[in-house]
Amino acid sequence: MRFSDVQHQDRALSIVRRALASGRMHHAYLFEGPEGVGKELAARALAAGLLCEAPDRAPEADACGECRACRLFAVGNRPDYHLFDGALHKRHPDKTIRSGKGLFLVVDVVRHFLIEPAANSPGLGRRRVFLIRDAERMNEGAQNALLKTLEEPLGDACLILVTSSAERLLPTIRSRCQRVPFDLLPPDYVEEQLQALAEVEPAAAHTLAALAQGRLGAALHWHKIGLLTALAQVSQGLANGLADNPEVFGKTLLEIANELAIRTIDESGNFAEEQFNGDEDEESPRSKARSRTIETVQLRAALKLVLLLIAAVYRDALIVQSASGTTLRVLPPELTAVDTLAGSADADQLADRIQVIAAAERMLDRNVAPQLTCERLAVALTGELPIP
Ligand SMILES: [Zn+2]
Repeated sequence: MRFSDVQHQDRALSIVRRALASGRMHHAYLFEGPEGVGKELAARALAAGLLCEAPDRAPEADACGECRACRLFAVGNRPDYHLFDGALHKRHPDKTIRSGKGLFLVVDVVRHFLIEPAANSPGLGRRRVFLIRDAERMNEGAQNALLKTLEEPLGDACLILVTSSAERLLPTIRSRCQRVPFDLLPPDYVEEQLQALAEVEPAAAHTLAALAQGRLGAALHWHKIGLLTALAQVSQGLANGLADNPEVFGKTLLEIANELAIRTIDESGNFAEEQFNGDEDEESPRSKARSRTIETVQLRAALKLVLLLIAAVYRDALIVQSASGTTLRVLPPELTAVDTLAGSADADQLADRIQVIAAAERMLDRNVAPQLTCERLAVALTGELPIP
């Protein structure tokens, strides 16, 4: 929870530090930028600093970590710190709201946990801090309600909106916040952090960092859900049966996406919570329960990752084909699909296939069913049929 934990974000940190040093803090900050580059780390450092009660601290310095406020903050028990996350609705007094899935942050939740407490005076110290994680989850009603709050003086409350999709916020919300843009991280740093934080093997760290393109959070998550296992499976499928049997290849892709979705659900912990509350059917094995829990939205997200992997294989094949190719190759040499594809198609064809993969992603965005998307993609990758 120190600003110094946030690396390679000098632009963002200088905006925040300047405001702190001048004593002219905005009421609302919008921490925006790619997923997993340190936005929330910086938001927590700012929150901790605003709430710290150490008497002789420079205003732009890190929180002291030792005062009463800092100790409460560290154990997640600071009364003036309000975190909005995906589970907040479960603490709402209204049962209907509690029982919702919380896909969106609705107006009742914003009103109960933000607008009303923001109007009160702080419980312990001088100010209240509200950190809204994934702020784009606020639906339009919630955003409009928040807008009214932003138009009035907020007293000593400070709002920190954190989002990787700022374009989904109302322009009026964006313009009323001090915007703090975050950048992609250097791939070398991502690679090094994967090894330091999660003990990822150097070769795997190199591949994950290349795939994540500067997003450490994504790379760490992908490590946890075994994305490189999926990469090996995708590569195997491309090396083996694509040309002979696109139908089988399409099914394989769907299976790989399914497995990824399951591992993502396991990783987030939602699975156990949703499935085993009061489930007394002893004969129902874990796998059976799992197959019920994967929702289309999760499968779609997993399939997008699979598409990213396929595109990476084709991109590497294109690189290998070019004269200086092999040194620039991103994926490890044991993925033979790269060489198979490089040997079986010319550069134009490979570039076409990458377009086909982008088209499949657009199909998913248009809510085309994952199964149909896989079938179309598999056929289109053989060059037999253009993808719509
Ligand atoms: Zn302190």
